[in-house]
Amino acid sequence: MNIFKLEPDSSQYWPLTHEIYIKKTGRENPYFSKGTDGKMRHYAVCPACNNPIQLIGFVKQAGEENLYARHVPKSILGVATYRQAAYDCCPLAAKNKIQSEKSAKKSADDDLAPQILRLIAEHFDRIILVLQESIGIFISPKLAGELLDDYLAEEAYNYKYASLLNIPWMLAYFSRSKSLVGRVFFHDDMKQAIPEHIPQAVFSGNQLGMRGKAFIKVNVYFSSHNIEPKGNTIEESMDMVITSEKRGQPSVVFRKKVIFDYKKFNHLLNIPEGKGQRNHALLDVATKTLSQHSLIKIQEQLCRDL
Ligand SMILES: [Zn+2]
Repeated sequence: MNIFKLEPDSSQYWPLTHEIYIKKTGRENPYFSKGTDGKMRHYAVCPACNNPIQLIGFVKQAGEENLYARHVPKSILGVATYRQAAYDCCPLAAKNKIQSEKSAKKSADDDLAPQILRLIAEHFDRIILVLQESIGIFISPKLAGELLDDYLAEEAYNYKYASLLNIPWMLAYFSRSKSLVGRVFFHDDMKQAIPEHIPQAVFSGNQLGMRGKAFIKVNVYFSSHNIEPKGNTIEESMDMVITSEKRGQPSVVFRKKVIFDYKKFNHLLNIPEGKGQRNHALLDVATKTLSQHSLIKIQEQLCRDL
């Protein structure tokens, strides 16, 4: 992997370069740690699964492209505790292409769920912002509440490949199909494809409507969560599928691969407290929906146990 963080409990992580690693660790123990063989090793924490990782190619200084990190299968004192179950589901540990079923669940000893729920409670507005930019459709507070409600009803935080990096996209992935009529679109590819397939569909500005009194369903759903190794890192994606109905049968109008942009999400999570704009309507939606699912209490309890 080519990202790292220093504390399991943190959601803040950085790109892995010599300069940033040295700056963030201050060359201090336990990140710089001398082994019994007398050799210096360089440790950090995996931003997706909270397991310890070790830097490879740090000493050679052969160029940043040769510097990467990989999981170490043991606890590193003062850095992180090794948890096999979390490693088994870590997207950044994928050696082969993973195409997962939504029904696949984490094992009971994988402990990421409380931290995922805490991020949802504290950063729901940012999660929605990242998701709507990624899929190209405006997400109103009402729609955001529906997405979170479906996500919680599916217990998607317990999905095998739910990680600290992919929360925005998992919110869409676990939602039921949603109507797109009346919604505002940001991406031109969809604005072109929908009227091409549905002659009654018309955009006024960026908003999808129907000519005359036509009532034609245009829905979106998400499928095919994929994790694919790419060099020293991975690409995580899902398919966005827009459907309509032809003679009572659902037909696909548009399909595209949505690649998860971890960077954008990380950037927003790390805006210092008091800086940057917060959307309180969305944060209220999160609090309300989590409490409807009796999860505020559970999440607080679980976080205390971390
Ligand atoms: Zn990991």
